[in-house]
Amino acid sequence: MDFGYDKLRNWVHENYHTAYVLGTGAIALGLWSLLPSKFRTLKLLGGGYAACLALGAALEPCVNFRSSLYGPVISHGSRSEPKFAFTFDDGPHPDNTPKILDILARENIKATFFCVGENALLYPELICRIKAEGHLLGSHSFSHKNLMACTPAESLDQIRRGIEAVSRVSGEPCRFIRPPYGMRYPWTLRQAYSLGQQVVLWSNWPRDWQLPGEEVIIERVVNDAQYGDIVLLHDGGGDRTQTVLALPVIIEKLRERGFSFVRVDELQSE
Ligand SMILES: [Zn+2]
Repeated sequence: MDFGYDKLRNWVHENYHTAYVLGTGAIALGLWSLLPSKFRTLKLLGGGYAACLALGAALEPCVNFRSSLYGPVISHGSRSEPKFAFTFDDGPHPDNTPKILDILARENIKATFFCVGENALLYPELICRIKAEGHLLGSHSFSHKNLMACTPAESLDQIRRGIEAVSRVSGEPCRFIRPPYGMRYPWTLRQAYSLGQQVVLWSNWPRDWQLPGEEVIIERVVNDAQYGDIVLLHDGGGDRTQTVLALPVIIEKLRERGFSFVRVDELQSE
């Protein structure tokens, strides 16, 4: 009998953080309801714990880059095609972006750049170069504010101005957005959809912003690499020397494993 067990199992597999929090919360609630009322302190503690878990469960899909619970997000492409999408956030940046573009041009690879609106207005020539070299431009808000720390009105303003900046400078409509830190409320997603955007997150995150050294960045990307991955890297937001050094080695190692590299809009969906 098909009662959606496979669907449930797939969902748990894809959203194991959420499933874990929901499951633990349910167990805490169950135990709490079984306790006789004479254990008043325990009941209060249990109730508090269950309430915290419920809040955590409600917020977890807002920060989990794999979760589409509150609305569709693209975190990877088809797992059966050896494709891999490089994405670069927080630029354009006058030092790092040209270096990354040089590497991509040399290797004949197209990638995706999620640009901060303010930076797009500051460095329009870099936006034009990204576009001219065949890469996909997306928006990463106007001034890289955490949209979960914004009111709904501020969040809409950040999203709209971010999209407008990238579209105006590139002369092309922007269709893809990545919220800063990947953090989004359900209404953040609705706001993005209402402005014609698809929301892109990631499935491979070497955490290059921690500056762990290029060897560690390479190892994290390559060891975790799966078909259809979207990898989160950064061309802006600080010194990205390690990312620039890691990139050619990552490309070489993944090519040896048969991967080809595409823009986010060229990934096949599942
Ligand atoms: Zn960012």
